[in-house]
Amino acid sequence: MMTTEAAEDGKARTGQPWSVRLGRAWRALLGEPDYGPFALGAAAGTEVAIAHPHAAVIEALVNGLHAPAIVLDRDGRVIAFNSAAASVAPALRPREPALISLRTPELVDAIRRAGKRREPQRVEFFDRVPLDRWFEAFVTPVKLPGLERTADLLLITFNDLTPLRRVEQMRADFIANASHELRTPLAALLGFIETLQGPARDDAAAREKFLGIMRVQAARMARLIDDLLSLSRLELNAHLQPNTPVELAPVVRQVVDGLMTLARDRGVDMKVSAPDEPLVVLGERDELVRALENLVENALKYGAAGKRVDITLVRGQTRAGTPEVRITVRDFGPGIPPEHLPRLTERFYRVDVADSRSQGGTGLGLALVKHVLNRHGGRITIESTPGAGAAFTMHIPLHSAETGQGSKSQ
Ligand code: ADP
Repeated sequence: MMTTEAAEDGKARTGQPWSVRLGRAWRALLGEPDYGPFALGAAAGTEVAIAHPHAAVIEALVNGLHAPAIVLDRDGRVIAFNSAAASVAPALRPREPALISLRTPELVDAIRRAGKRREPQRVEFFDRVPLDRWFEAFVTPVKLPGLERTADLLLITFNDLTPLRRVEQMRADFIANASHELRTPLAALLGFIETLQGPARDDAAAREKFLGIMRVQAARMARLIDDLLSLSRLELNAHLQPNTPVELAPVVRQVVDGLMTLARDRGVDMKVSAPDEPLVVLGERDELVRALENLVENALKYGAAGKRVDITLVRGQTRAGTPEVRITVRDFGPGIPPEHLPRLTERFYRVDVADSRSQGGTGLGLALVKHVLNRHGGRITIESTPGAGAAFTMHIPLHSAETGQGSKSQ
């Protein structure tokens, strides 16, 4: 029975408890006549629980479902819902009218249509509270055989579309970014070709100059396509962990030797420090070379002002205590403001787009590094003090033969 003062108050003010008024509102929404007492099995105008003939069975079934599910009685009151549904609609309360807790207009409308037409309804909606999420809901009228019409139910199930929508959004952003990146050098190439065919047709000096620029732009497009292909190959093989033992000191040496000319051009001194003991990981050598090359090249390009780049190879431990190898590339350039750090490994993310482009960057380098490390069961960490430089560390699990745990030997 209704006992609280507020409820008595509500009754006194209007002559009817709120549940009766909402029940009437619900039936009005369904477009039905006010055919009987609001509470099945209870006296009209009371707040006593509805005794649905199958309430216990319904509740057990709903609790066994993985997806969010809510069951309403014909009057729109909640008979049962599972914990997944509670996270979609935290205001759900047993026996209360669903109108109170499911405030999304599209959903309320679908429930109304399903109740009125006795036909299943599907609806998509976006919920901001408690988190930004997209859902599709199926509202299905359930007829219980052998029972009177008032025992019929509405089953509402939800499907969380958020991950799917995020992937769709990422794909759309990715295509937009990739096209934009390709369009810029392509527009430059077309412009120079037109100039060379027209006004600069007989100007040998201009031709030399323009061909030089065109070469740079074409190389940039080729690099972008290379990086895109590498990324998609890495994604295809993301679930295949490489199993060839690779010693890392020679990898570091190969990368440093390969970038010596760039370092000289930029006036940067590269220093390598590695232990005497061999540090071996299970990996794809070419991918590890490519990843480290990206980090050292970035340090030489963006950190050139520091005049020094240190590359350190050490044995370390993860937080969980498992042995790992760390390769740190540290520069002493301008560093990176902290707000950019969490997003640096996103595709096409750059701190300064013009700076990256002028250095021939594609914005894909750190995304590639992250993918390579994921595939190797490792990770990348970035530290930076603006004004004092940046340190990028590749963490890769140490091969267990090296840790004395006796797996594959080299
Ligand atoms: P890019 O092709 O632009 O170099 P990356 O993914 O390799 O792409 O790097 C993303 C961005 O991170 C760069 O554009 C640059 O703004 C920033 N960055 C990377 N390394 C450094 C560094 N050592 N010092 C300062 N900024 C860096």
